[in-house]
Order: sequence, then C-alpha cells, then structure tokens
Amino acid sequence: MTALHQWGVAELGRELAAGTVSSVEVTKHLLARVASHEQLGVWLCTDRDGALAQAAAADARRARGDSGALLGVPIAHKDIFVTRGLPTTAGSKMLDGYMSPFDATVVARLAQAGTVTLGKLNCDEFAMGSSNENSAFGPVRNPWDMARVPGGSSGGSAAAVAARLVPAATGTDTGGSIRQPASFSGITGIKPTYGVCSRYGMIAFASSLDQAGPLARSAEDCALLLSAMSGFDERDATSAQRPAQDFDAAMRHTRPGATAAQPLKGLRVGLPREFFPAALAGGVNAAVRGALAEFERLGATLVDVSLPRTELSIPVYYIIAPAEASSNLSRFDGVRFGHRASQYTDLLEMYKKTRAEGFGAEVKRRIMIGTYVLSHGYYDAYYLQAQKLRRMIADDFQRCFTQCDVIAGPVAPTVAWKLGDKGDDPVAAYLADIFTLPASLAGLPGMSVPAGFGEAGMPVGLQLIGNYFEEGALLHAAHAFQQATDWHVRAPAGVLE
Ligand code: GLN
Repeated sequence: MTALHQWGVAELGRELAAGTVSSVEVTKHLLARVASHEQLGVWLCTDRDGALAQAAAADARRARGDSGALLGVPIAHKDIFVTRGLPTTAGSKMLDGYMSPFDATVVARLAQAGTVTLGKLNCDEFAMGSSNENSAFGPVRNPWDMARVPGGSSGGSAAAVAARLVPAATGTDTGGSIRQPASFSGITGIKPTYGVCSRYGMIAFASSLDQAGPLARSAEDCALLLSAMSGFDERDATSAQRPAQDFDAAMRHTRPGATAAQPLKGLRVGLPREFFPAALAGGVNAAVRGALAEFERLGATLVDVSLPRTELSIPVYYIIAPAEASSNLSRFDGVRFGHRASQYTDLLEMYKKTRAEGFGAEVKRRIMIGTYVLSHGYYDAYYLQAQKLRRMIADDFQRCFTQCDVIAGPVAPTVAWKLGDKGDDPVAAYLADIFTLPASLAGLPGMSVPAGFGEAGMPVGLQLIGNYFEEGALLHAAHAFQQATDWHVRAPAGVLE
C-alpha cells in the first residue's frame, strides 16, 4: 500500500478522481505527520479543523460530479500571503498575532480550485534571506541533512515539499527565493514572469521584483498550481493583462520536428559563460553538466551565450531591493498592524521602540541601506545608477534570446550550507544569489529543476530561464527532462516510509 504522502499533486488528483482515496483521508494523514516532523521547523501554524472542513467540502463537490486537478489536494502557503482566519507573520515578530481580514488573490484562487490549506509555512523575515535563518520563529532544517539550511526565503515551503509533508506549496521569489530553496531541497519550483501572479495580499518586500509561484515535486505539479494561481487581477496595478493560461497544456505541447526519443529537438539552450565560473562548486558543475548532456540526448542543442553584467546584478539588486523594502516597511509603525511597544512616552518613541523590537537584524540592515541609497545626495549615485544597470541587464538577456530559446545554468554556486555558516557575514549570503538575481532584475521567468547531487550528497538544481511569458517553454523542457530522468522523484532518507 502506497503511503498517502508519496503522491504528488497530479497523482493525487488522479487518485481522488478515481475515488481510491478521499480528500479527508489524505488530509488526516498529512495532519498526522505534522507532529512527527516538528524538528524541521516548517510550520508556523496548522489548521486542523479548517483543513478537514475544506477536504469534506471538496469530497462533496466530487460526489456531485465536479472535477478539477486540484480539487481536494492539500497544500500550504508561505506565511507571506495573507489569509483570512489564519495568522500571517511574514516570519516577523512585527506581525505576531496579526490576522488579515482578506485572502491574498493567490490564496483565494487556489482555494477556488478546491485545494485544502493545511497551514502556513516558515520563511525568512519579510522574505529577506537565502537560508531561512532570518525567521523570527526559528530556522527551518533541510530534510536531506538536518544540519543544513533548506535555502530561503521560501525555506519552509521547500522543506515541507521535500519531506513529503505537503504535495505542493506556494512561495515567492524576489531575487531567487523559489528557485534557490527548490535547488537546495531537491524539488521543482518556478517563478513566473513578473506580473503573471497577482501580488495582492502578498506582503511586499521589493514590489518591482516580488513574484509568487509554486514549489512542488515536478514540472507537471508546478504547471497545475501555476494555472490556478496566475491570471490578471485588477487589484494589482502591475498584474499582466493577459488571458488565463493552461500551463499543463503548454507543458505537453509537441515541438515541430520532435520525436518520441527527442522531444526537445530544435530547442536551443543558451549557456551564459558567466554562469560557469572557476569558483563554481565541482559537484554543482558536474550535476549541471550532466543535466545538460541529457538535454542534448533529448534533442536540444547547447549554445554559448554571454550575460556580461552577471556580477553587477548583486550590487544592483542589493540597492534596489532594500530601497523598495525601506519604503514598503514604513507601514509597520505600531499603529496599523501587529506589534506595538508596550511602554513609550510619546508618538516618536512609540515608533522607534516598536520598530526596534519588531524587526530582526537583517530587516533593519536593509531598511538602513535602502534609506541611505534613496536619500538626497546619494539617490543619483546609487539608486539611479542601479536602475540604469537594471535596464542593461534586461537588454543583455534580449540579446541572448536572439541566439537561444531558453537559458540554462546552475541555480546557486554551491549546495545547501550548514546552519550558522554564513551567520555573521551577510555579504557572503548576498554573493550566493549571483545566478538567480539577473532574471529577477529583468522580470523573466525562472525555474529550478532537480539535476542530481553534489558536495556532501546534497541536491543540485538546474536553472532554466525563459523570455517574457515563456513559462510554458520552461515547463515543457523541464517536463521532458523529468520524463527521462528520476532526480525529481528522489526523496530524503526515511520520508517515503
Ligand atoms: N536572497 C535574496 C534576498 O535576500 C532573495 C530573497 C527573495 O527572493 N525573497 O533578498
């Protein structure tokens, strides 16, 4: 008998449709695993009663003849999406005890598709970080090695999927926070083009970069979630005005000239030379090269391309993102949301104490950097220069896409590091974002696909980057790769029992 947590989204949807299992049964089974996996630190809250009620409602809908790939499938949300009826913290003490009066659009759309919300998942505070160690509610551990980080900032989402606590989870990616934890945790994740998923109800970090997306085991599972999550939303001014997309169909399309053995025939995969520096970890390089050889066997051709400003994406991002964060986070003043200092003499002291107590060190660091680069006299020297370079980085990608259809490379320069390893050196963590930041700055879709194992036997992800609104092409390539390989079905020891 297959343990119920072994099924991914697509498989579970098929079993639910066939009636071999009910949503209530699966939901109960997954809820029972919450307590036995506490040491992972993924859950910030769970909702037993709510989940069982949603599962029963999904079963009733099926009994009435409703279908839908996600009807009755349990998922969980990164705690950066606001949820009515469940607390939302964004991993911060600042929002401890905060209850939103409404659901984020992404949450509402997934609920409409019939998913069951098990609870909210740990993340770096306000999504700032690469290891989940910046959460005010403790770190998340990597199910592949409990001494290592799961990546961040969607670390709880990645670890929960890797440990088979949920078949899929939502995440957000501002500079890599879906792709990098997916890579570190051996799962699949996609950040769509900026504007594909609504930001309404997603607690803002850097508004011109923030984008939601799914983390799951396979491209197939991601496609199902993304179809439900995405689409125009009039409540987000930067939402892309495009018709709703069926990413599952896009993933399954047949390329002209493709054969059964060579489904990727004719696909040009660009390898930016800057993504393969000498400093790339040997195990990461070997796994990525191995995956690229598989792409060639599947019919793709590899072409050399260049993204000459790859290194500059680090200073550019770490000016623009903190600048936007310093502005977005000004709303946490002790008046409107969450935490307020208990003792103060006047209004100014209330603000100061509230913010000193509520924010963690990394958030404070970014507020200070952001305020500095936006201040009179420095704006032109830093912020404006960064904006100009951001445009040049986006243009570099367009030049690449005249030579190739998708871009491929590593997601991160190393495998997951040990907890505490970069604790007192924020810049070391910033530097590790080098391969995910360029696509974020350009607003392009990016994906992480399990590609093997590197140093210390830890998972390695292959990054695929597409042109604007080409997430279907990424899912198609990733799906073909996953049909031919089994990296994405590997699981950490013990979790399949
Ligand atoms: N690691 C990056 C940062 O710390 C990206 C975070 C994100 O994508 N939310 O800002």
